[in-house]
Amino acid sequence: MTAQHELGRDWGLYIDGQWQTSSTTDRISSISPSSGKVIATVSQGSSADIDKAVQAARRASRSWASASPFYRAEVMNKASQLIAGEREVLARALADDQGKPLVSEAYDEVDELVLYFSMAAEDAKRQSGSMPHSIDPTRRVLQYRVPLGVVGVISPWNWPYTMGAEVFAPALAAGNSVIWVPAPSTAACSALLVEIFVEAGFPNGVFNFVTGLGAVVGDALCAHPSVDGIGFVGSVATGEKIAVRAAGKRQILELGGNGPFVVLEDANLEKAAAAVMDASFLCAGQSCTAGELFLVHRSVKEEFLEMVASLTKESIHLGDPFSPETTMGPLNNEACADKFDEHVKDAIAKGARIVQGGKREGGFPTTLYAQATILDGVNPDMLIASSETFGPVVPILEISSDQDAIELVNRFGFGLTSAVFTSDLSRGLSYAESVDAGWVNVNASTNLWESHLPFGGRSGTLSGRGRVGGSSVLDAFSEPKVVILQL
Ligand code: NAD
Repeated sequence: MTAQHELGRDWGLYIDGQWQTSSTTDRISSISPSSGKVIATVSQGSSADIDKAVQAARRASRSWASASPFYRAEVMNKASQLIAGEREVLARALADDQGKPLVSEAYDEVDELVLYFSMAAEDAKRQSGSMPHSIDPTRRVLQYRVPLGVVGVISPWNWPYTMGAEVFAPALAAGNSVIWVPAPSTAACSALLVEIFVEAGFPNGVFNFVTGLGAVVGDALCAHPSVDGIGFVGSVATGEKIAVRAAGKRQILELGGNGPFVVLEDANLEKAAAAVMDASFLCAGQSCTAGELFLVHRSVKEEFLEMVASLTKESIHLGDPFSPETTMGPLNNEACADKFDEHVKDAIAKGARIVQGGKREGGFPTTLYAQATILDGVNPDMLIASSETFGPVVPILEISSDQDAIELVNRFGFGLTSAVFTSDLSRGLSYAESVDAGWVNVNASTNLWESHLPFGGRSGTLSGRGRVGGSSVLDAFSEPKVVILQL
C-alpha cells in the first residue's frame, strides 16, 4: 500500500478539479461490514454541493465535448493505467469497505474496472458519422454524434467501482462532463478510486464527485435543470423515483432482477450445480444477475439438490474478506441482511424447507455474515421467489416442463438475466427466445457476462431501460447532429 493513496481518512468532495469541503459539516461514517470498525468518513453532501458540481461540469462541458476523441481516449487510457498501477490498494479498500473476499473477488473487480476505462477509450475513437445523400445535388450532408453535455451517474454498493465506471467511463469518453454520486455505504472506496484516476489529467470540472444520502444528493442531481442525462444503477424502487424526477432527461436505468436459473431434465447436473456456486454466492448473492430462483425439473430435483448441498459445504467458505481461504464475505449492510432474514422467514412460514443455512453466522465481529442457504419446496407466493433477495440463497422450486419454467419466469415482472441448463441447444435457444430477459445464458451461470456486450433489462419490465456495456453508453449519452452544406 502506498502512503499516497489510503482509504482511512476524512474524504471531501471532488468538484472543479479540487478536493473541497461540503457546504455542510455533516459526515457519514464508513463502517467495514467485516470488522464493524469505522475505516473512514465521507462528506454528507447537500443539494448546494450538487449545484456547485453541476455548474462546474457545465462550464467544462463545451471544451471537453469539442476536444478530439483521440485526446479524450488518451486521458481515459492514462486513467486505466493509473488504476492498474494501484490494483493492490484498490482491491484491499474494496474488501474493507464492501466486504467482498480479496483473493476470490476484489482483484477481479479492479481488473474489470481497468477494462472499462480502456474499452471506453477505444470506443470513443471508433464513434463515427456518415454522409447521407441530399435531395439537392448542390448540398452535402454531414451526420455525426455529439455528446449530450452534463451527465449524472448514481451507483449502488455491490460493485462499488465497476457499477459507476461502466456508465461514467464511456460517458466521459463520449465527451460529456460527469457528476458521480456513489452509494453512501461504499463511498470511501469510491473516493479512493477518484483520487487515483483523476491524476490522468481531466480538465477541471469534467469529472466531479459528490457523496451524501441518495435521497438528498442523488435526488438533487436528477432534478437539476442543467443535467442532460442520468445513468442510474440500483433498485427498482429508486429507479421508479428517478424516472419521474429526471423526466425529460436521457435516462439509463439498470435495476434489479431475480435471475431465474432453470435446470431441465436433460441437463448436465454436475455442471449446473457448479454454476450455482457462482450464481448464488458471488458477492454473497448481492448481484443484480444473481441466480435467486431455481426452477428444477422434478425428475432430477433430488439429485441436483444433493449435488448443490454437498458442493456448497465443500466450496463456500464464509469468513473474513482478507483471509485467502474465504470465498464468501459478509453482506454489505444491515438493510440487506434484514431482507435476507425476512425472505427466509417468509419462505419457511409458507412451507419451504431449509436444506442448509438460513441464518446469520455467529462468532464474527459483525452480524452481517449470512450463511449460504438452500431452500427446497419453494412456491411462487413466497417473497424469495417473487422478489429480489440480494443474499446468498438457492431457493428451489419444482417444475414439470419447459413451459412451466417460461410461465414462472415471465410471471414476476423482472427482465434482466436468466440461465437454462439443458443438453439440447435447440431447447435452450427456444427457452431464451421465450422469456422476458435482456440476457440469457445457456449452460452457464446467470452471473456470466462480458462487458463489451449490451447489458440491461428488457424494455417494459421492472429491470429498467437502456443498456450498458460496449458502446451502449456512448450511444445513449450522445445524439445525432446533422449539418447541411449548401455549395
Ligand atoms: P438503491 O436503489 O437503494 O441505491 C442505489 C443508489 O441510488 C445509491 O447511490 C443511493 O444512494 C441512490 N439513491 C437512493 N435514493 C435515491 C433517490 N431518491 N434519488 C436518487 N438516488 C437515490 O440500490 P442499492 O441497494 O444501492 O443496490 C442494490 C440494487 O441495485 C439491487 O436492486 C440490484 O439488483 C441493483 N443493481 C442493478 C444492476 C444492473 O446492472 N441492472 C447492477 C447492480 C445492482
